[in-house]
Amino acid sequence: MSISDTFLQEIKFRCDLESIVSRYVDLKKNGRALKGLCPFHSEKTPSFLVHPDEQFFHCFGCGAGGDVITFIMKIENLDYIDALKFLAEKAGIAFPDDQADDGTTVLRRKILEMNREAAKFFHGYLLSSQGLKGLNYLKDRKLSMSTITGFGLGYAPDKWDSLLKHLKSKGYSEEEMCEAALVSRRRTENSSTSENHYDQFRNRVIYPIIDVRGNVIAFGGRVLDNSMPKYLNSADTAVFKKSRCLYALNRAKNGNNNTMILCEGYMDVIALHQAGFTNSIATLGTSLTIEQARLISRYAKEVIISYDSDSAGQNASKRAIGLLNEAGLSVKVLKIEGSKDPDEYIKTYGADKFRLMLEKSGSHIEYRLEQAKVKLDLKNPEQRITYLKDAAFILSTIESPIECEVYASKLAHELEVSIDAILSEVTSIKKKGFISKDKLKIKKQLSVTGGIGDRINPEKSRNLKAANAEESILVLLYRNPNYFDKLSAILSADDFLTNFNRKVFENFSVQLSEYGDVNLSRLPEKFNVDEIGKITDILEKRQVSNKWNEMSDCVAIIKNQSSDKLLGNELDILYKMRKENEQEKKKTGGIY
Ligand SMILES: [Zn+2]
Repeated sequence: MSISDTFLQEIKFRCDLESIVSRYVDLKKNGRALKGLCPFHSEKTPSFLVHPDEQFFHCFGCGAGGDVITFIMKIENLDYIDALKFLAEKAGIAFPDDQADDGTTVLRRKILEMNREAAKFFHGYLLSSQGLKGLNYLKDRKLSMSTITGFGLGYAPDKWDSLLKHLKSKGYSEEEMCEAALVSRRRTENSSTSENHYDQFRNRVIYPIIDVRGNVIAFGGRVLDNSMPKYLNSADTAVFKKSRCLYALNRAKNGNNNTMILCEGYMDVIALHQAGFTNSIATLGTSLTIEQARLISRYAKEVIISYDSDSAGQNASKRAIGLLNEAGLSVKVLKIEGSKDPDEYIKTYGADKFRLMLEKSGSHIEYRLEQAKVKLDLKNPEQRITYLKDAAFILSTIESPIECEVYASKLAHELEVSIDAILSEVTSIKKKGFISKDKLKIKKQLSVTGGIGDRINPEKSRNLKAANAEESILVLLYRNPNYFDKLSAILSADDFLTNFNRKVFENFSVQLSEYGDVNLSRLPEKFNVDEIGKITDILEKRQVSNKWNEMSDCVAIIKNQSSDKLLGNELDILYKMRKENEQEKKKTGGIY
């Protein structure tokens, strides 16, 4: 949805940043700015600044930053549109209605209405005398009435057309019900009378899937006996993409402790919430996708994987670790001992024991080390050597030398070998996969940038000089919109070497040509909160002269960096070689 600029200006005019922030943070005068303790990271000395003149905030500690809309997105865990709605309501402005939108919007709204109606229908049926079978099943699984109601659980009647008839009485057509994936069409016939359509969910306990805005977007259904399929989920619709949604994220996002527990199934999540672990979520009957990992990273910094203890669950854990790391999340893996899943564990041993187990959950390195020795007998010398080599390989993937040493010392203790022997093994693996001289070069470049910057603009470390010039250009442009025409004549987005800065430049350019200035509140449509934080960080920290000379110097730097870009490419090739090397090793089965 595209938001009109007038509406954005109205929001910003009515929702003064200082007064909005003051509701969450105790602000004190600090020159022309206001200072307080950052609400986005824990600190004892204030490094969170609000600039009333420019209407933006910035934290020197964690790099968070943006305008009033970004602030609300971050602190209330809302997406862009919902943050606007939140502020509009506070300011008493009507949110622009999207009645005039295209057919998809109308269809989406209709599906959401039908889903809500269906959820009410299933829940009502569960609580009726006919739904007793379902209710007893849930009570047998030790769910309390308030949990059942809180999650809106329901029961689908054992009939072919109960929901169909109900929705029809509410004025929906079979076609619309099909679009919502609540009803299916019988394949053999082609007329569209109601006899040819049937309820998708029958004789199942129903778990409504609710998104972060509180919309019912789909359903999961579980059989009460052993018939197949055990679980049935809604097919993808205009409001639901299985690979991009997470069960109970609407509740877990307010858990607010930066950690989420990732489970395999609905029942695990519900049991965990009931036991007080309200930061639990699950994928919807599929393995984790990168979209889901990124979605989690909007609300948490760390994920504790809590999959089933069987081998399928363990294999899924391994895959999930990679994806979660890729999304910038730190990962721990829970080792569930004595039960097959978290639900059963809590029932058997109670919530306190589970909490203890959570606290003990290891990093993914620990987990991989555990996995490496599963099938080995460490009393056998040959197998001990195998384990040592595998373990050294795992340690060679750790960037931090201190962290590496911690694990090496643990291993040394466990296997009764010297820590030096392990560390030299690690070093030799590192050397084999990599030309150490070049690695030093990369390391040096990495240490210059560091912090959150790496995650948002990973290419910066390899194009440092150009990236710095790019950032200066962005700041100069932000503060001096009048330079835009002159700049456009000598610089285009294609000249940028790092993708992130290029994307920012493109966005600034669009804004400047459409509105004549750059406004931070137009960013959230194209950037996430972390990226906006990074942009504010650049605008705040980078010192520029505001003179045209500096601008043209920076342009010259970018354009002269083609040779450095070549070096960057060479490093890319090295990275690639290392990866291929690793894959080759995997193929041959051995570590070397
Ligand atoms: Zn902060």
